Amino acid sequence: MALVDDIKDFALDLGYCAVGIGSVEPFGQFAQALEERREDYAKFPYLWPMVDPRNAMPEAKSLVVVAYDYHAAGFPAELVGKIGRAYQARCYLAPVERLHGARTQLLRQFLERAGCRVGPWVGSRTGVPERQAAARAGVAQFGRNNFACVPGVGSFIVVHTFSVDVELPPDEPTESLHCPPKCQLCRQACPTGAITADQRLNPRLCVAFNTFTTRGEETGVPIYVPREIRPQMGSWVHGCDVCQEVCPKNQRKLQANLPVDPFLARKAREFDLFSLLGMTDEYYRRVVQPMMYNYLRDQSLFRRNAAIALGNGGDREAVPALAQALGDPAEVVRAHAAWALGRLGGRQARQALAAARGRETGPAAEEIEAALAVVG
Ligand code: SF4
Ligand code: SF4
Repeated sequence: MALVDDIKDFALDLGYCAVGIGSVEPFGQFAQALEERREDYAKFPYLWPMVDPRNAMPEAKSLVVVAYDYHAAGFPAELVGKIGRAYQARCYLAPVERLHGARTQLLRQFLERAGCRVGPWVGSRTGVPERQAAARAGVAQFGRNNFACVPGVGSFIVVHTFSVDVELPPDEPTESLHCPPKCQLCRQACPTGAITADQRLNPRLCVAFNTFTTRGEETGVPIYVPREIRPQMGSWVHGCDVCQEVCPKNQRKLQANLPVDPFLARKAREFDLFSLLGMTDEYYRRVVQPMMYNYLRDQSLFRRNAAIALGNGGDREAVPALAQALGDPAEVVRAHAAWALGRLGGRQARQALAAARGRETGPAAEEIEAALAVVG
């Protein structure tokens, strides 16, 4: 049997839902998109070398691209709408000591045993624009929402790409949009208007980016979430699935009543926004970190997101917890708790804000003043 057949068999046996082979030519569309949106992506410098897979591996001759369906099981109602499914599923940027990280290692080892040199991972990435690679390798098609979608599976997938120094026969690319001509459901549903055109997403507006992109100055997505975005974040504390939830390509999965992943069912019993807002190191280690290790490692930003979500919840039962968060050690949490109290309003919220007023001098002081100006 040819090497390419062995690779595909092994990948599918590992549980990937699709596998394909692509060439290592530069990604022209990706380069063009970066060029057109130089300002949007100026603070994401790792993107530019990804235009050419040979920047990460000069001797690369083929790309082996695999997709994993992370919605084979269902998700607990307590977590849906709060944590993006990709993060609940623990398969995105998974460490090697976890099942999903180990799967990529097993495929890498198989390729090496088959005589291929395999390209390095650059940081936590493979040095290749993975969704573009998936389209080139015939594994997935793009939607207007910019997500890659495996036919018959949907867009709740994660893609991994391995550059190899062996020439393998490429599969037929699937680079066209999969969307019906008139469908705009994702653009219409996006709470912030972040999808500005077909396959164009403004990361600064995207709820997901605002929940988990934390490098502030470096990325242009600020740690203090812009006030106009906060109400649109709803109950999301890590990621956002709205533009995938409305997509017709995902309805079969979403309506299938799949059995819930038992690990998530167990975590969901302990997960709530109040616990997240006031979390201890032990709660973080036991409940939060196993599901949400992907981007956020700063616990204060989970507390920040919990404060926003409680403010958006509209339930004044959250006021005492948010009042307590005005004493959080992290100013970013105190500031967003003040905003949330202003949003919930009421006498108790006003009293808490007034009591905290004299203790602050920086961004939290500004948030308290703004909240006091609107609190009912
Ligand atoms: S992830 Fe959410 S905020 Fe971002 S583009 Fe999709 S719907 Fe909009
Ligand atoms: S919602 Fe419609 S336009 Fe958006 S990705 Fe899905 S099919 Fe395409």
